[in-house]
Amino acid sequence: MRTVGPFQENCYLIVDETTNRAVLVDPGDEGEELVRMVRASGADLEAIWLTHAHIDHIGGIAEVRRHFDVPVHLHPLDLPYYTQLSARAAQMYGVSYEQPDGPHRELAEGDVMTCGSLRFTVMHVPGHAPGLVSFNGEGCAFSGDLLFAGSIGRTDLPLSNPFDMDASLDRFGALPGETRVYPGHGGATTTAEEKRSNPFLAGRARALKR
Ligand SMILES: [Zn+2]
Ligand SMILES: [Zn+2]
Repeated sequence: MRTVGPFQENCYLIVDETTNRAVLVDPGDEGEELVRMVRASGADLEAIWLTHAHIDHIGGIAEVRRHFDVPVHLHPLDLPYYTQLSARAAQMYGVSYEQPDGPHRELAEGDVMTCGSLRFTVMHVPGHAPGLVSFNGEGCAFSGDLLFAGSIGRTDLPLSNPFDMDASLDRFGALPGETRVYPGHGGATTTAEEKRSNPFLAGRARALKR
């Protein structure tokens, strides 16, 4: 894992130690650092998986793909961010950003993604972004900006939907309690811990009052 860029985004390198294959989740910024991390692992990078396409999750793709010709996987409902809105956000925030090509593969609810012998199921959990997905498997969930330790992703951004967010948190909260959650920002947690301490997962708070 490496935290990159002005938005302190977490990029995860998943390595299957039995086959030495690897996948990069959300290469958000500092592409050169991420290339170094992949090389240092000694693993063969196979793909880039995106939880969603906000600028802080895709800004490192162009550089990574200059070194590794691997396909970018994204849920199609996040295409507007990928193709236009993230570039616009970069201008707005005044941060450097290189538009990546792709995406190359579409993600859908229930897809089974493999990284060597590791298996992850795609769970479509919109709200923070319309095409946000969590990669669930091997006792882990790479859930992007769905939730953070003690908090949840913003739902006041363009294309956000607080009602979808509530439904997604309910679904995600039903995962086994020992599931280790690796969020897009901040430290790792578990679903059980969040159900105990995160008001949005404990049912004490909603993304928006109905
Ligand atoms: Zn986001
Ligand atoms: Zn983010």
